Amino acid sequence: MIAKDMPTFQSFELPKWEVITPHTQHRLLIKSMLVQQEEALKSSSLSTTKMLDLINKTVYDCLDSREAPFDTVDGFMKNLTLADREALIYGLIVSSYGEEQDFNVTCNACSKNFTEKASLTQNVDIKLYEDKDPILKKKVDVTLPVSKYTVQLQMPTLWDEYVFANSRGVSPDVLRKADDYLVVKQLNMPAVVDPKKPDEVKMLAVNNIFEIYSYMRNMSPRDRKTIYSAWKENFGEYGLKIVVGTVCPHCGNRSDMYISMINELFRLSQ
Ligand SMILES: [Zn+2]
Repeated sequence: MIAKDMPTFQSFELPKWEVITPHTQHRLLIKSMLVQQEEALKSSSLSTTKMLDLINKTVYDCLDSREAPFDTVDGFMKNLTLADREALIYGLIVSSYGEEQDFNVTCNACSKNFTEKASLTQNVDIKLYEDKDPILKKKVDVTLPVSKYTVQLQMPTLWDEYVFANSRGVSPDVLRKADDYLVVKQLNMPAVVDPKKPDEVKMLAVNNIFEIYSYMRNMSPRDRKTIYSAWKENFGEYGLKIVVGTVCPHCGNRSDMYISMINELFRLSQ
């Protein structure tokens, strides 16, 4: 009789990559995805909401350890921002697929396609938020020039995005522009309490992201622009940016290509 026991295969370690989340400054080790996780990303007919859920879940499952506040998915979402997630996806891509990637480029001068080989880690620019006050606690009040409403700006978390994405009536199209609305934590609108006393106004606070979005849609673009400028001025452009310089082999045109980590993750997993 020949023993038909399964041989003991040598085990292997999954590659890991360390990421410092640029907004919240957590040092996190992220390990490579498994093929089964990659397969889940392949189901491409997902709605934007489902896609965000899947991305958050994949990144969460690939954390090498999950200490507080990351011991639950809710804790993970409430303590990280969208830019933090972008940095974690970067770590996930490097640990899962390596530093060198082939990028498909369409030349913006001659419209021909070519492939550019580039290193993610050599083309990354990471700007960390380094103020003493934690970015998630920072609040900025702004008075809007046209409506005279005031808004309180605060850095949105993955949780804010989740709540907004799952609000009834939010279409994928709205979700794509969500960054403009998510930054408003509170909208204060003067309201007349007693119709007999039109001059007596009380500030009415709106905190629900979807309601804020509904009111903001009926405001002047000048108000929206004011929010955007205040946002840029106070919260800056911290995060991770990957820009790959490309040279078209057909016409010699030089160009810079900005790489979105979410798009890159879906492209590589197909
Ligand atoms: Zn060209």
